[in-house]
Amino acid sequence: KQTLDVNAIRKDFPILSQTVNGKPLVYLDNGASAQKPVAVLDAMERYFRECHSNVHRGAHTLGDRATAAFEGARETVRNFINARSTREIVWTRGTTEAINTVANGLAPRLGPGDEILVSMMEHHANIVPWQMVAERTGATVKPIQVTPQGELDMEVFESLLTDKAKVLAITHVSNVLGTVNPIKDLIAKAKAKGLVTVIDGAQAVPHYRPDMQALDCDFYAFSGHKLFGPTGIGVLYGRESLLEEMPPFMGGGEMIERVTFEKTTWNTLPYKFEAGTPPIAEAVGLGAAIDYVEGLGRTAMETAEQALLQRANELVETVPGMSLIGTAAHKVPVLSFKIDGLHPSDIGTLLDQQGIAIRTGHHCAMPLMDFFSVPGTARASFAFYNTLDEVEQLFAALHKIQRLFAE
Ligand code: PMP
Repeated sequence: KQTLDVNAIRKDFPILSQTVNGKPLVYLDNGASAQKPVAVLDAMERYFRECHSNVHRGAHTLGDRATAAFEGARETVRNFINARSTREIVWTRGTTEAINTVANGLAPRLGPGDEILVSMMEHHANIVPWQMVAERTGATVKPIQVTPQGELDMEVFESLLTDKAKVLAITHVSNVLGTVNPIKDLIAKAKAKGLVTVIDGAQAVPHYRPDMQALDCDFYAFSGHKLFGPTGIGVLYGRESLLEEMPPFMGGGEMIERVTFEKTTWNTLPYKFEAGTPPIAEAVGLGAAIDYVEGLGRTAMETAEQALLQRANELVETVPGMSLIGTAAHKVPVLSFKIDGLHPSDIGTLLDQQGIAIRTGHHCAMPLMDFFSVPGTARASFAFYNTLDEVEQLFAALHKIQRLFAE
């Protein structure tokens, strides 16, 4: 499809057509969590009404139905990211659990003197798990600087690719800056030096369809709830040979082949990493979300989103004292900003009074806030269901707030 019919699309998201504080809701907090189309709500309800049981237990019909729905969703994810096999698709609770699973799993490869490269623009979910594994193994976490525009400093990156570097853990898209990192290039350069590559795709998948075989990364993590699916479900893609090598993160049911008090052996992939009863309905919901989004057409979606970003960028100029944090050449529609004399949290509260939802604060990226010498930012993050009219409404409200405080 070439263009999106946004008005029709908005009907698929019932939550958007309500008033908040007496005003029509303008939801611009998609980076924190996106809304869910009816297709997702229906898929989950149908699952609970008709199929629910535990999975992989056999013995009865509902168990078979639940397993088919659950494994069907895994195949949907595999196809979505073009992974070679469903053995490489591990269900997790979200990006955070996925990255913790990898960090823990790579611990046996790490020792004193080894370096884990992360960027300055990482979410805490892609910093803290590495600090924890570094503490255990004696490895060091090395930050890759960003430029004042909020792009990765490629010179620093290349200078850090020494023999000590063992892991590159980097975000595909920044949740604060909207920067799209040149990950294909980063992965190729890191792989040439023998690093294991771990990509945080949490903010990328709502905008792009990542291709695991083309990117050739070792790991790629994302969350369902930012991809218009439910909370409590996420994905860890892992290269099969590395998943085979890695120890599991959690122990329990499902993840074993045989348990004895003498020795326990692990289940095959991907189940080795899926201890306990999984989030079955959530997986089904995520599968439905992917089908929905892919049905819209990514090209049309990207065109619509870039139009929102472009209009927002034009309007930034019109608000006295307003400036953007993150002006990369290649961005998704995420606007982190400050307005002179105004605290981000006041901006958020005043916008909410006008029905406009944004996020304020450090966005789980404190090192990046330190780099830009701000306590936090106000962040408006757009999705394909946002309209140009909503961009205008945001800026009309910002003008009003700015005038109020200037007086
Ligand atoms: N990485 C990035 C870039 C994110 O934006 C987020 C969510 N804000 C996460 C990781 C963590 O995702 P989750 O909380 O769903 O595990």
